[in-house]
Amino acid sequence: MTSLALRYTALSDVGLRRNNNQDSGYASARLLVVADGMGGAAAGDLASSEAVGIVRQLDRDLGVDAMDALEHAVARANERLGDLITDDPAVEGMGTTLEAMLWDGDKFATAHLGDSRTYRLRGGELTQLNTDHTFVQSLVDEGRITREEARHHPHKSLLLRAMLGRDDNRADFAWVQPQLGDRYLLCSDGLTDMVDDETIAQTLGAETIDQAATSLVQLALEGGGVDNVTVVIGEFVDASDDPDEHLASSDGQPHLVGAAASSPRPRTGHGSAGSSRGNTLDLDPEEIRYAPRPPSRWRWVRWIGALVVVAALFAGGGVLAYNWTQTQYYVAESDGRVAIFQGVQADLPGISLSQVDEVSDVELDDLTNFQRSQVTDGIEATDRADAAQIVEDLRREVAPAPVPTPTPTPTPGVILPDQVVTP
Ligand code: CA
Repeated sequence: MTSLALRYTALSDVGLRRNNNQDSGYASARLLVVADGMGGAAAGDLASSEAVGIVRQLDRDLGVDAMDALEHAVARANERLGDLITDDPAVEGMGTTLEAMLWDGDKFATAHLGDSRTYRLRGGELTQLNTDHTFVQSLVDEGRITREEARHHPHKSLLLRAMLGRDDNRADFAWVQPQLGDRYLLCSDGLTDMVDDETIAQTLGAETIDQAATSLVQLALEGGGVDNVTVVIGEFVDASDDPDEHLASSDGQPHLVGAAASSPRPRTGHGSAGSSRGNTLDLDPEEIRYAPRPPSRWRWVRWIGALVVVAALFAGGGVLAYNWTQTQYYVAESDGRVAIFQGVQADLPGISLSQVDEVSDVELDDLTNFQRSQVTDGIEATDRADAAQIVEDLRREVAPAPVPTPTPTPTPGVILPDQVVTP
C-alpha cells in the first residue's frame, strides 16, 4: 500500500479594500488551518490569530486520538477567546471562523465552524466538504434561493455560528479519508465571495499547489478583493516520491500567514472605539457578521436574533442587521385585532424594529384563549405570504357566533365533544 505524504502551502492577502488582515492560516505536513476573524479592526485579527495559535499546537502534541485532540484544541481556543473577552470588555463581540484538518497518518480529523470552507479536488471534481454556517445557507437548504444567488445575497456574510468564546456555538467535527492525488483547499470567504466553484476547481488543479495558491489569491483580488483572502492547500503524494525542491514546503517548515504571523496582542481600551462609530455608512460589515438566526419555527430563536440586532444597532452600525429585520414578518395584536407586522419584535426606547403591515378583521376576542395568547406573544412567519396564511388559519378557527341548537341525542358508538370517555 502506498504511503501518503502531505505537501502544503499557505497564502494570505489583506485584499484591496481593507487595511488590516483579520484572517490567519497555518499549514504543515500534518495540519491545515484557516481562521477568519471578526469583530472589527479592533479584535478580528486577535481572535483568528489566538485560535490558530492554539490549534497549531496540535503539531507538537497530537495526543492519542486525532479527533479527541482536535476537539480539545477547538474547545481550548474557544475558552481562550472567552477569557480575552472577560479580561477586556472592549473586545466583546470578537470571534472567528475555523477550518482545521489534522492528519493522523491514515485519515484527517476535521473541524468546521463558520463560513470558511474546505474543498476537496479529486479526479478533477471539486467537492465542498462542509456546510456554511450562514443565514443564506439556511435559505439554500430550504430551497428558497440557489447557491449562486446566495453568493450575491445582501446578507451573505451573516453568520449563524462562529467561535465567540461562548458555549453555544459548536463546531462540526468529521473524519475525512484522503486518497493519493487529493488536493484540499481551506479558504476564507474572501476567496469564495469573489471566485466561483468552477473557477476554483480549474485553478486548484494547477500543476503545483504553490501555483494554485498564488492564482487563487490573484483571482480574488481581480474579482474585487473586497475582503482579506486566505488559502491553505494540502496535497497527498506518494511518500516515496522525491521531494520537489521548487515547492515552498520542501524545507519541511510550517507556513504561518495572515494575522497569526504578526502576533496581534490584546489592546485594552482600543476595542470598540473604531473610526466607523457614529457613521453607519462607513460600517465595516465584519463588525456585525455574527448576526440574527434565520427564520425558525422556534420563536425564542427569533427573539435572540432581535437581541443581536439591537446589540448591533447600539454598537453603532447595524445597517445590515436592520435590513435583515425588515425582511422578517410576524403576526401579533394591534388594537384588539390580529395584524401582520414587518420586522422583528423587540421593545427598546427609541428603536423600532417593526411596524404594522396589515391589520386583519379578526378580533382577538373571537379567538380561543390559547390562540389569543399565541397572538399576544407574536407568531413568527417565514415570509409575508406565510404571515397571511397564519391570519387565514386563525380566521378559519374563529368560532361562528353561537346559534341555539337542540341537544343532540347520543348515538351508541359516537362520541360527542362534551362526552367524557372513560376506559
Ligand atoms: Ca472574511
